[in-house]
Amino acid sequence: MRTCRVRGFPFLAAAAALGAAMTSALAQEPAAPPCPETPAGYRQELWQQAWQIHHRAVLIDTHVDTTTRVLDQGFDMGQRAADGHFDLPRAAAGGLDAVFYSIYVDSRFYGDEHTLFADPPASINDDWPRPKEPGAANGSARRALMMIDGLLRTIERHPTRMVACTTADELLAAVRAGKHAALMGIEGGHAIEGDLGLLRLFHQLGVRYMTLTHTVHNEFADSCAPAEPRWGGLNRLGAKVVREMNRLGMVVDVSHVSDATFADVLRTTSAPVICSHSSLRALCPHPRNVTDDMLRALAANGGAVMINYNCGFLDADYAKNKSGREQTRRIQEKAARDKFADGSAELQAALKSLDSRFPPVDRPPLAKLVAHVLRAIEIAGADHVGLGSDFDGVPCLPQGMDDATFLPRLTYELLAAGCSEAVITKVLGGNLLRVLRAVEARALQLRGTGPELAEPRTDQERLPR
Ligand SMILES: [Zn+2]
Repeated sequence: MRTCRVRGFPFLAAAAALGAAMTSALAQEPAAPPCPETPAGYRQELWQQAWQIHHRAVLIDTHVDTTTRVLDQGFDMGQRAADGHFDLPRAAAGGLDAVFYSIYVDSRFYGDEHTLFADPPASINDDWPRPKEPGAANGSARRALMMIDGLLRTIERHPTRMVACTTADELLAAVRAGKHAALMGIEGGHAIEGDLGLLRLFHQLGVRYMTLTHTVHNEFADSCAPAEPRWGGLNRLGAKVVREMNRLGMVVDVSHVSDATFADVLRTTSAPVICSHSSLRALCPHPRNVTDDMLRALAANGGAVMINYNCGFLDADYAKNKSGREQTRRIQEKAARDKFADGSAELQAALKSLDSRFPPVDRPPLAKLVAHVLRAIEIAGADHVGLGSDFDGVPCLPQGMDDATFLPRLTYELLAAGCSEAVITKVLGGNLLRVLRAVEARALQLRGTGPELAEPRTDQERLPR
């Protein structure tokens, strides 16, 4: 396994002192729960040490999609569920102190050219397809509002266990009080429907980051998913969105955007930005992941990459095997359905045989996730790496990270790889707190400026470059 190589200060006294300072700032945090049995293959002494470090640190996850379950399935996060990746009991068991809940607006609400959702479920979309014109009302803002309502209803239902937070100080106060800190990040800039006023109102409601795009290009920025660019990065409205987010104190999130959008954001923003849930392209060449150059740019900006746990973003072989196997299976299944009558014994036998010939692809091991974290530390530096699981938003998590209860194993693996407590504390949440504070400080500096306003004649022009 790759060892923990920290750019700039490899295990110097300065790092230890910083770690001690961060730890003592949290001295009032409730004591760690009793350490559970050592997992198979783990060294007992190291596991017990990792457990203490894990619970001393403030663990913050910048991307959890359970909000979609809350809204669409009436899911109660207060109960431990048998399925999915996340709920409050599992967050507590995994030492997960604070979460940015994804106010996720599926691309189908925007009604763009993306064909993936050509046949959406009737339960969510009663008037599909939605309008495509830039600036046309399209249901995205309403969906975001309903997501926010779903989360706020959850918090109201469990007031003794969780608390809505909008600042780094509120987050830390919640953790010290032994409560789960709930924050909000919009996923998909189409949620603001091209309207800076809606951006400001979402901020008023407590949203503290926005992923500029999801899988579609929107009114102001290009996504990494479609093959052809729309604006070639940000347009003029996009630059206003970034500046307005700086002014409001909302973190700009560049997960999901195209490389050109990423570059435009970095030269526009005056505050640190994050990738709320992306992994590394050097280890898994997926456009959702960041290159080493992007990592260096994030570090220079004072921002951070939060590593995504999705198998398909961690392991290129997994992604390739899975899509190859699924494609072959689909072809053979179609042939069987064409050949045999529905409900016939022959069809049943053919499908059963397909199941045994095409078993699920093995999930990658936890080591793959750890390798992304360690490489990000090596390239960007220990001050610019964090965690954005994508719990309940991805179909596959690595073996050994089945759900939120497995999080202490990540701390163990980082410790086993030679990372100091100071470095681990930063990765688990310290870096996100620093970014949040920097964004809050920048907003204070910008007080009295703006607001950015629409200029319909020029907003859709490409950003000069
Ligand atoms: Zn996402």
